[in-house]
Amino acid sequence: MSRLLIITGASAGIGAATARLAAVSGWQNIVVHYGRDLNGANETAAAIEAVGAKAHVIGADVSEPDAIAKMFRSIRELPAAPVDLVNNAGIVAPKGGIADLTPDRVKQVFDVNVLGAIEVARQAVMLMRDWGQGGGIVNVSSMAAKLGSPREYTDYAASKGAIDTFSTGLADELAPEGIRVNVVRPGPIETEIHAKGGQPDRLERISKNIPMGRAGKAEECAEAILWLLSDRASYCTRSFVDVSGGR
Ligand code: NAD
Repeated sequence: MSRLLIITGASAGIGAATARLAAVSGWQNIVVHYGRDLNGANETAAAIEAVGAKAHVIGADVSEPDAIAKMFRSIRELPAAPVDLVNNAGIVAPKGGIADLTPDRVKQVFDVNVLGAIEVARQAVMLMRDWGQGGGIVNVSSMAAKLGSPREYTDYAASKGAIDTFSTGLADELAPEGIRVNVVRPGPIETEIHAKGGQPDRLERISKNIPMGRAGKAEECAEAILWLLSDRASYCTRSFVDVSGGR
């Protein structure tokens, strides 16, 4: 049966790698969600369609609930199917200690990483229930949720900690409905998020402390995400998979 895979933040990085891998792993319909980067989303969509799957490019700022609702109204026009969600869109603010954690900055991080992710999950679960064909969710957290991120961006770490805790509760609630909820916690991964967060040298700096001696690749996160959504992980819910080179 054809499954519908919704990936937020699929215009770049881990989301884009997950979309590309999904297209060659059996997902026939993939929602390529983007925030501002339409070009990146179109590139992801072209890669999906090049291998014969169908891409649906939909934009929405996940910090705006009305935009998320509009996105899901568009998704509801697609044929009903089992729905899988990769709740991946996220941001990191520049390096900063407690003095830098102004309300505006923290609000921006939490609006995207926490409120946005919870609203996307809520809309996806309502869709799964209405379509009655089940599905799965992977929330993309961070090793920062587990280890903290002292003197760097504790607001980001706290936002991902919120997602970890949210995921455990959601997994408990949805298990009786056959909807599995799992978490992937990337360590340092080679994507643009570090430069966007004002730290282009971060990967090189922290890779020295990674037991495997290197940063990870977006494709290595994609493998874990898609495994958790697949039937091969049929007894996994409330599971956390660290993709972190041993950190
Ligand atoms: P990225 O910057 O390459 O991709 C982030 C994606 O989220 C982009 O597609 C971006 O457009 C989207 N996005 C950001 N804000 C948005 C908004 N307001 N509305 C809609 N879309 C928005 O980064 P990435 O490294 O691929 O990050 C993906 C996820 O992985 C994030 O949740 C991030 O916190 C997490 N993560 C990344 C790393 C890492 O080292 N790269 C480590 C741990 C966790």
